[in-house]
Amino acid sequence: MTNVPELFGSNVFNENVMKERLPKAVYKALKKTIQSGNPLDPSLAESVATAMKDWAIQKGVTHYTHWFQPLTGITAEKHDSFIEPTEGGNVIMEFSGKNLIQGEPDASSFPSGGLRSTFEARGYTTWDPTSYAFIKNNTLCIPTAFCSYGGEVLDKKIPLLRSMEAINKQALRILRLFGNNDASRVTTTVGAEQEYFLVDADMFKKRKDLRFVGRTLFGAMPPKGQEMEDHYFGAIRSQVMSFMQDLDEELWKLGVLSKTRHNEAAPAQHELAPIFSSTNISTDNNQLVMEMMKKLAPKHGLTCLLHEKPFEGVNGSGKHNNWSMGTDLGENLLEPGKTPRENRQFLTYLTAVIKAVDDYQDLLRISVASAGNDHRLGGHEAPPAIVSIFLGDELEAVLDSITGDKTYEEVGQSILDSGVSVLPNLPKDSTDRNRTSPFAFTGNKFEFRMLGSGFSIACANIILNAIVADTLGKFADELENVPAEQFDSALNALLKRELKEHKRIIFNGNNYSEEWVIEAEKRGLLNLKTTPDALPHYTDAKNVAMFERQGIYNLKEIEARQDSILEEYYKIIRIEALTMLDMARTEIFPAVLNYSEELARTIIAKQAVAGITTKAEERLLAKISALNEHLADTIDELDAALNGAAACNTATETAVYYRDAVLSKMNEMRAVSDKLEPMIAAKYWPFPTYSDLLFY
Ligand code: ADP
Ligand code: MG
Repeated sequence: MTNVPELFGSNVFNENVMKERLPKAVYKALKKTIQSGNPLDPSLAESVATAMKDWAIQKGVTHYTHWFQPLTGITAEKHDSFIEPTEGGNVIMEFSGKNLIQGEPDASSFPSGGLRSTFEARGYTTWDPTSYAFIKNNTLCIPTAFCSYGGEVLDKKIPLLRSMEAINKQALRILRLFGNNDASRVTTTVGAEQEYFLVDADMFKKRKDLRFVGRTLFGAMPPKGQEMEDHYFGAIRSQVMSFMQDLDEELWKLGVLSKTRHNEAAPAQHELAPIFSSTNISTDNNQLVMEMMKKLAPKHGLTCLLHEKPFEGVNGSGKHNNWSMGTDLGENLLEPGKTPRENRQFLTYLTAVIKAVDDYQDLLRISVASAGNDHRLGGHEAPPAIVSIFLGDELEAVLDSITGDKTYEEVGQSILDSGVSVLPNLPKDSTDRNRTSPFAFTGNKFEFRMLGSGFSIACANIILNAIVADTLGKFADELENVPAEQFDSALNALLKRELKEHKRIIFNGNNYSEEWVIEAEKRGLLNLKTTPDALPHYTDAKNVAMFERQGIYNLKEIEARQDSILEEYYKIIRIEALTMLDMARTEIFPAVLNYSEELARTIIAKQAVAGITTKAEERLLAKISALNEHLADTIDELDAALNGAAACNTATETAVYYRDAVLSKMNEMRAVSDKLEPMIAAKYWPFPTYSDLLFY
């Protein structure tokens, strides 16, 4: 039996270890740095570095690395050993304060969206003391931020920390208006539920598409899909169970609060949910969750797929970003309160989120845009590409009473004017929640459900924090100048005005329905269906102004991100198209030929025998020959479409081209192959089928 409390955090240089190993004064100063989010005083670094090194070496560690999050969305690390030569040909183990605080990776191979040219290869990393150092693969990992020598941000951590700082500042201004002078910090909290698929490792290896791009580019639906709904929360098979056990233990050692595990809706699909923590920690932890899933699956004969849509016709995998704001005194600002003051405060924060989501629908859509996620959003299984908020009937009724559209029936009067002390009991029970909403209020937090499973959650949270901070800032600007005795009426007027203006973003109905698409258009909501539709909005004037106001990005940095997302988009489609061509030419086409040959030989052989018909074989041969011809056509056409991309100039133009000219041909090729697959004798089909992969 595993002793979980003993295991938990055993590979983390956490507060307890610091307390035990650091001189008291250093520990206190470091703790203050962590709590305040301020930069570390370099004079402390030496002492911290030595303690870290000694602790790590006792655990068998030989190397350290600055663990950072470049724009690729995965984490990067370059390992250095602690060895330092001494006279006489020996070594000692050294780790200086300078090494702890700053690293200098040759950063030229990381995407920078043009921010750093290769001749100016240096970038540098700085320790983020708000996230604990940890040991992974016998290496001391130091969570760090990554930027260019010119100071431009090259990673996801710096803007995330900046956005947390922005929301701290603005949310505190609002708290002060409500007379709260005790809280000294507001932190955004996140719990990221992670969906994933597990497939048999040997089957995985036999499919080039899974190996190269993580999703199946061909594959006919098996007779059984997920229609029986027998997988969700179903009993977990022992092979998967042993994987999950292993995963939990490794994550616990790393201090990740892995809490829930269960089967998901699709066959072979599962989910892990942690207990929430501050956004920065949750982001680092979610990277570790994904990394460990990938790393540990092979030990159990499995491969973990984190692609958003590995299988056509079967639910894809997403990530639910549960988000809230809380004070250092433990108050959740999105928790409806018990007193009139608390409720008005809650309604103020709630209204800010509603306004922010409506004003910046485009940015939220951008934060979840990728080639993989485009297959999922709007696929009648995931939230659509249209951003809207679910509040539930109870809360919407409260808001209607504020705007004066309706009286709130339970109290028979307007909530604000009467200063009622009790808000209705909002359902926190997961059973009657709306699961189709992209952005759902779930009692004391919002659940942003549009993220793809393979995403870093950083971008979504940078944007969420930034837009809510900006909106809170506007509210504070307006209310801070109001004399105290007029505060209540000024607040009422503000809430009434903003809720009236942004009511269109609230939708409690079925987001998967066709009617909603039409209704949303009537309401003037954006429907940015694909990545190339969404990304150009990154640099819209209102968005640039907001990022600059909040000190998150400058125009150059936004343009860099825009370009790098678009580039990644079309590069992925290009690799997918090349993989399809390869599979079609070298595997599918020859397989059909082999079966055709067998049929043709059979026909000839049977015709030599008097009185036997060969109609069935002839019919089948005619059908598959025609389809194989069609397949050959799509091979030529896809090839030509790929060559056409050379004529595109900008990143946007190229992305649009790949979507319209290449992706459509890929779909056509797949349709032909998927028609062929069930007609070809199983022994000839060249790679594992959906039945093999999903019902292993
Ligand atoms: P469901 O599957 O019903 O959406 P789960 O219980 O699996 O819900 O996940 C809910 C997630 O929300 C958990 O990760 C939980 O820790 C997180 N959460 C709860 N409270 C907060 C909060 N105040 N801030 C951020 N996340 C929260
Ligand atoms: Mg959820």
